[in-house]
Amino acid sequence: MEKIICSLCEKPASVNLQYAAKHLCSGCFVKYFEKRFLRTIREFSMIKPHEKIAVGLSGGKDSVVMLHLLAKLRRRLPFEIFAITIDEGIKNYRNTTIHIAKRECKKLGIALKVIIFKEDIGFNLDEIMKKTNSSACSWCGVFRRYLLNKYARIENANKIAIGHNLDDVAQTVLMNIMRNEPIRIARFLEPITNDEYFIPRVHPLLRTPEKEIAIYAMLKDIQIKYMECPYAHFSFRQHVKKQLNDSEEKYPSTKIRILNSFLEMKKHLRKWMKDEKFKLFHCKKCGESSSAQICMRCEMIMKLKNMA
Ligand SMILES: [Zn+2]
Ligand SMILES: [Zn+2]
Repeated sequence: MEKIICSLCEKPASVNLQYAAKHLCSGCFVKYFEKRFLRTIREFSMIKPHEKIAVGLSGGKDSVVMLHLLAKLRRRLPFEIFAITIDEGIKNYRNTTIHIAKRECKKLGIALKVIIFKEDIGFNLDEIMKKTNSSACSWCGVFRRYLLNKYARIENANKIAIGHNLDDVAQTVLMNIMRNEPIRIARFLEPITNDEYFIPRVHPLLRTPEKEIAIYAMLKDIQIKYMECPYAHFSFRQHVKKQLNDSEEKYPSTKIRILNSFLEMKKHLRKWMKDEKFKLFHCKKCGESSSAQICMRCEMIMKLKNMA
């Protein structure tokens, strides 16, 4: 069999990037991967000198790789990082990822704050799942977002870095289209109205395919456990994920086209939404910013209490 050589140098290739029509050796792949990360940060002006960045660290491969990349960038750009891990209380799952989060932060000399669901919300996710029959992600998503924002603000962070990769973003865009939720598309990645209570979120991996994050971790010897949240397979997202992977296989670049199309659509949607009046309140119960008098987090807690 003929040996495939790297498209950039003469070494044997080990990674095939179908969408870019490139075969790369491991050294060229690492450079390509890191360059895209830097370019994305620059493209959206995600980090400015001397800012304090809170890293949402789940302990999964995406956020751990992002932490390593940001720690490396810190040597070139003066900014501060600390990490926040949310412990939802999912048995046989979260303990492992928290252990990884602690170990990696220690390795990189980054301070870590672990926030426990139960202490703020009053329930852990396993308890919530016993009470309700609905999708775990809809509860978990609201509570996690709330807690990340609140604790990032308490620590005076300027931004929150989220490890969403290209696959996550393309999935969310498609899901919102399939559910007919244009407003969610407009405010995905960025809130419509700004408020001092909101800490802006940045997504430095949004142009990076999920598969490549795993390859990068392997090549850089970043120790990661491949675990999926035990509640994940119940979700609509899994269905969309399968479809998208299938499309990407048959029609390379599908995911990046969905992302670019979303970024373009978002500009127009947001212009249209600015004409509509979107009122922002501060929740009467917890004080956080909200699109209603009582925020989603407090609504959900009331619902859970009534179920008892
Ligand atoms: Zn090469
Ligand atoms: Zn509230």
